[in-house]
Amino acid sequence: MLIELLLVIAIYGVYKIAREIMGNNKHLSDAEIKEYKYKRRSLSESAQRRITNHIGTCDECRERFTSIMNS
Ligand SMILES: [Zn+2]
Repeated sequence: MLIELLLVIAIYGVYKIAREIMGNNKHLSDAEIKEYKYKRRSLSESAQRRITNHIGTCDECRERFTSIMNS
């Protein structure tokens, strides 16, 4: 009984971490990048972090990000 409970907690923990990683890996939309460009102050800290983290790891979005920021 206790082992089953621990198993459920462990699976839930893995699931939560996996969801966070998936969220970070999701490509940025143009709308998100524009929001970052024009309304950065209104974005939550975690939303800003997601954008900067993603740009650090994804060439495709970094290119799009720079072209939108420079447009
Ligand atoms: Zn991307």
